[in-house]
This record gives sequence, structure tokens and C-alpha cells, in this order.
Amino acid sequence: MFKKYLFIIVCISLARGQEPGTGTAVNRAVDYTETIVLVDKNCIDGEYILGPKESFFEPNDFPSIQDLVDSYNSNNYMAFIYGVLERRYPTGKSIIEQAGGQSAVDKWLWNSGSASSVLSQLGLVVHEIGHGIDQTNPENWYFISLDPNGNPLSFTTPGMHGEITTSSSPMYSIERSLTLDDDQNWKRPPAQSSEITTSNEWGDGPFGCDENYAETYLNGDPYNSTFEGGDQGYNMLIEEVVQYINSIACAYYFQDYYRASSDRHAMYTWLWWNERYLRKIRTENTDQYEYLFNNTKWLELILTLWGRAWLYLSTDFPGMQPDSDYLHQLVQQPEMLSEIQRIRDACGCDNPVELLPDQTGISDETVNNANVKPVSHFNYPNPFMNKAHISLVLNHKQDVRLDIYNSKGCMVQTLCNGQLDKGTYAFVWDGRDSNGAESSNGVYFYRIKTDRSQYKGKLIKQDGTR
Ligand SMILES: [Zn+2]
Repeated sequence: MFKKYLFIIVCISLARGQEPGTGTAVNRAVDYTETIVLVDKNCIDGEYILGPKESFFEPNDFPSIQDLVDSYNSNNYMAFIYGVLERRYPTGKSIIEQAGGQSAVDKWLWNSGSASSVLSQLGLVVHEIGHGIDQTNPENWYFISLDPNGNPLSFTTPGMHGEITTSSSPMYSIERSLTLDDDQNWKRPPAQSSEITTSNEWGDGPFGCDENYAETYLNGDPYNSTFEGGDQGYNMLIEEVVQYINSIACAYYFQDYYRASSDRHAMYTWLWWNERYLRKIRTENTDQYEYLFNNTKWLELILTLWGRAWLYLSTDFPGMQPDSDYLHQLVQQPEMLSEIQRIRDACGCDNPVELLPDQTGISDETVNNANVKPVSHFNYPNPFMNKAHISLVLNHKQDVRLDIYNSKGCMVQTLCNGQLDKGTYAFVWDGRDSNGAESSNGVYFYRIKTDRSQYKGKLIKQDGTR
């Protein structure tokens, strides 16, 4: 557990990642030395992590659905499904409505006997129905969310027509299973099946990586005539990213009724494969890479999905942990993150600023409000990791409150509560609670509130003996 959080810090702290410039040189295949962040507050991935009609709720703020659970009637499961989604994940409701409602649900909901059973299946139901609506349009668009008028926020991305690997369509020009040939594949764990025929078969990574997903989605021999999942091109990889965001959103929003971790695990897997695919075409298939970069819709789609995925992945609440932290680390390797940064660069985002964990984008006025700006919130790396440094830059005089919370949401300590003049301030949390007692090691959060803004961030408390 601990290593996982530590790794986040390492990655965020690494301002510069190096990429060995391998393969065919295109203009973007040079050594990458620009600043890399996980989610860029100043770019599309930071702006559109929420659909315009969505709100992001922390578990303590989830709208109650207990009345719907208590009055559940298996004859009216549709009213229940719409009711709970409307309150917590309206995008899911919209997906079902677009697919025709009950007839679509009936294809995927296998047990409507109880409210808890339905809730445990919601992620799968929305995911599968989401595939269905994305396939109904011949242009093969991706439905993401709703716009403020209730219209679909969706992407129609070019180059995806055709269904087989022999298609001349640009985005089919390499199969996603060819990522099995890349220099990342050895990091996978030993796969559980012998069906992988493309290349290295499996990697040497530790337990817990993508064995459950690769077998279904990545594996397949693009050179034989049998059409398999892995033979499909980039569009179907992205299609799964779209739907796994729906899966993980449902897992997140209904975590108080059921606990699922595999959705999070899958999300990491898809993001890692996406990075690998981008790198593969950048270095080995220049035509497809150029095609991608010349189509703004593709760039916007990739960044939108990237940001939305991390909205849920950045939450640290019981039941949302991945099966292991290994995939989490693979996705955040600097050379992998640089693939996303290249896309941001192509969108003109040349001032990357990390979007802090738990910050939400479009609905959060702090994004456009520079009254207060934490400039440093981690104390890494040094032997005094039980002290956290939090700095603020204030553009004008204002009321500021800075509190530390533990992972259960209980306030531990207040570092500041009063009016501060314009200027730069540094606060240190010594790891003690308001009674002066040493807090246990673990994850903490800080929250900065001003007149008009709110910032949250994560802190790691760790003594020097771990
Ligand atoms: Zn799927």
C-alpha cells in the first residue's frame, strides 16, 4: 500500500522525463525533455474530466439512495436504476436512455432480485450498453457525457471504418496486439494462458498486472486469418477506455453498497496499453501517428478520457484499490506519461501544471481562479518525511483556512485559520494532531479554503524507518 502512494509522489516530482529516441524519426520522436504531469490543469485533460452536467462527489457527500434501496421492488428495477444513476452518475442514465431503456438493460442485468444485486451489476450494465450506443452510429462515435443542454458530448473521430485488420483505414493500420512486441511487455506478469501467439508471450513483472484483461483484449495473432480481439485497431482500444471509465465511475459511486476493485485494475491496464500503443506508432508507424496528430478530434478524445479516468483513479477510498500497485506504477512511468504530454503539446498546452488529486476540473471554479495557489505540497525526498510542507501564493488579502484530514475524512489539525495578506506563505505539518499526539503513518489530505476557492491535496506521512 505504502509504496503505491510514494510512487505518486515520485512521479509528480519528476519534472523531466527522458525518452530514448528510438525508431523512425518523426518530428515528435526526439528525446522528450518537457515537463510532464499526470493530469494537466491547463489542458483538455484537466478541463474536461467531468462532463458539464456531472458533479463529482466525495464518498461523504454521495447523495443518499437509501430510500430507493429500502423501497426496491424487483418489478420496477428500471425506476430504481434510473433513480440511483440520476442522483450519483447521470451519465450512466443517459447511456441507458439512448440505448432504449429496459430492453437494453434486460440484455445485461442477470439478477434483479434485490437492490444490492442490481447495484453490483450497474457498472457492467452501463459499460456494455455504452458499447452498444457507440456502435450504432456508422461514424463510430464515442459518447462521453452530456453537455449543459442535455445533448451528447461525443467524439466522432475519423479513420475508424471497417472491422477487420486488413482494412485500409488509417486507425486500423496496426493491431493493438502488436503492443506485445514493445519494450514494456516484459514488465507484465506471467500470463495465465498459453494463447498468446504474437510475441514474447508474457513478461517478468510481479503478480497482479494485466493477466485478466490481456487474454481478452490484447492477445491475438494479427498474422493469422482468425479475427481476434487483439487484431482490432486503436479505435477499439479507445472504445474500451471509454466504457471502463463508466465501469469505474459506477464502482466509485456505489462503493457504499458494494466493493469492487477490478474496475480500477482494468482502468490502469487500459491506460498503460494506450500509452504503449501511442509509443508504438510514434516510433514504428509514422503514418498512423501523423494521422492521429493531424486529427484534433482524436487528440481531444484521448486527453478527455485520460483526465476522466484519473478523476476516479485518484480517489483513495476503501474498495477502490487496485489488486496490486504494480500497474499503477507502470502507467506512471515518465517515459509513458511523455506520450500523453506529446498529445498535450500538439493541442498547444505548453504550460503543464499538475491537477492535484481530488481537484475536479470543469465544475471547480478554482481552475480559473488564481487567488491561491499551492506551489509545493510534498516533502520529497528526504529523511524527514514525517513533516509536510505546504506553500501558498496569495494574490490579495483574504481569509484562508488550512486543515489536515486523515483518510477517513476526520480533521486532524488546523494549520491556518485567519486573514492573510498578499504574499507567499509556508506551512509545516509536523505530523501531530490538535492534541499534540503523533499521528500514525499513512495518507492524509490537506484542504485550503479561501473566500472563493478550495484546494485539496494528498500528504504522505512516513517515518524514516520504513
Ligand atoms: Zn468492454
